[in-house]
Amino acid sequence: MEFEPVIGLEIHAQLQTATKIFCGCSTTFGAPPNTHVCPVCLGLPGALPVLNERVVELAIRAALALRCEVQPLSLFARKNYFYPDLPKGYQISQYDQPLATDGRVRYVADEGEVDVRIIRVHLEEDAGKSLHAGVPGSGRATHLDFNRSGVPLIEVVTHPDLRSSAAAADFFSRLRAMFRALAVNDGNMEEGSLRCDANVSVRPPGTTRLGVKVEVKNINSFRFLQHALEYELARQSDVLRAGGAITQETRLWDAANGRTLPMRSKEEAHDYRYFPEPDLPPLEVSAAWVAAISESLPELPEERRQRLVAEFGVAEKDAAWLAQSAELTSYFEDTVRASGNAKAACNWMMGSVGRYLNEHDVEIGGLRVVPERLAELIALVESGTISTSAARTVFERMAASGEAPRAIVEAEGLVQIDDSDVLGAAVREALEGNPDAVASYRAGKTGTLGFLVGQVMRRTQGKANPRAARAMLLEVLDGGR
Ligand code: ADP
Ligand code: MG
Ligand code: ZN
Repeated sequence: MEFEPVIGLEIHAQLQTATKIFCGCSTTFGAPPNTHVCPVCLGLPGALPVLNERVVELAIRAALALRCEVQPLSLFARKNYFYPDLPKGYQISQYDQPLATDGRVRYVADEGEVDVRIIRVHLEEDAGKSLHAGVPGSGRATHLDFNRSGVPLIEVVTHPDLRSSAAAADFFSRLRAMFRALAVNDGNMEEGSLRCDANVSVRPPGTTRLGVKVEVKNINSFRFLQHALEYELARQSDVLRAGGAITQETRLWDAANGRTLPMRSKEEAHDYRYFPEPDLPPLEVSAAWVAAISESLPELPEERRQRLVAEFGVAEKDAAWLAQSAELTSYFEDTVRASGNAKAACNWMMGSVGRYLNEHDVEIGGLRVVPERLAELIALVESGTISTSAARTVFERMAASGEAPRAIVEAEGLVQIDDSDVLGAAVREALEGNPDAVASYRAGKTGTLGFLVGQVMRRTQGKANPRAARAMLLEVLDGGR
């Protein structure tokens, strides 16, 4: 039996502030160990935390983009556990009254509509880092770097609404794009600015009761997330198929060996003994502040996607691609404005432009063809001056040299051939050179006409007007019957 995957994510995102959540220390990554520390983030006795307002503002931005309700009052709590890189012996987090609740993320993916409900968004501080390998003396001792201690995080918890490992990885990558667009998080997963815990269970298809879940901790890449989930789904399905039961536990992704490993079971699960943080007052957020932040939000990818469909009649799938970044969307809109032709602009974006960006691994901002020039190229095709296939060649030249399309067309002699003598010669050659194709066309395989048009295009280096070539071929083929 194929089981249905059920996946929920807990995502930690570092908020892009200059200073930490409860002190004035810098959050800059990569400084020498223990140079961005003070009594507060070292957890020294008597040092008092003071909440950084900018942290709250960024968290609210993220929460609003996730369509959450921002709570007028939320509380900080101490989450108690022992870990060498947690100097206070507890982490300041939010527990039963988080900053924001009840959000929702919806979008159209390749597989169809995705709808993920958000349980909560809460604030917390990061812990320090234990350095095991690659440090002098690491064979004898663990080294601790507290630069990361007190760096501001939000934790986003989703309902278990994701239904495949690919969908989970796609969701995580969309969240990253959203946070980057909001300037809430830098999306740097190698530096640990964005990471997630994946909760996963399986159940027989058609049933609604949740199965026993396993939590895979600390995943810092989309690929790892997908692989860890695939491994875990297969493992759980095997256990159930063999008549066994899933143990609720926390596991780790072992990237080197492509498997998850048990870390701790439910019996060993932490009892964090949460209690209200006595050194911080309740966090009050005014409706006016939330409204002001809401006003300042940029258009998000999903909103852009919907607008492209509504405003320009762009196909759903194309719109999803065009909406992935604000720069790509503006490039498209500028091209439409300059050319007055949304359909052609979209075809160029999905064709030559997209291919060029992919092959050369550049962002749209690095493309030497500006929208106005692409619009000129579109006009040259519209007016029949050059063929579509010649235009593709012109585009490549434009991208390489930054030249104007008309200059390239003239220099390369790419003006479309409508002249019936020249075209007639090419048509004759195409027919004489391909007697088999002619015979099979006459035998009823009319599909070979496309092949013959292609032959004419080749003989004219792509300069023939394909419509004229087609008409001329038909005249001979059907007329000579
Ligand atoms: P816990 O109390 O173990 O932390 P929560 O109920 O807080 O569990 O949920 C934590 C995360 O686990 C959420 O993202 C949630 O969607 C997910 N989750 C909960 N139950 C399941 C399940 N049976 N299968 C998959 N994910 C689940
Ligand atoms: Mg939890
Ligand atoms: Zn500090």
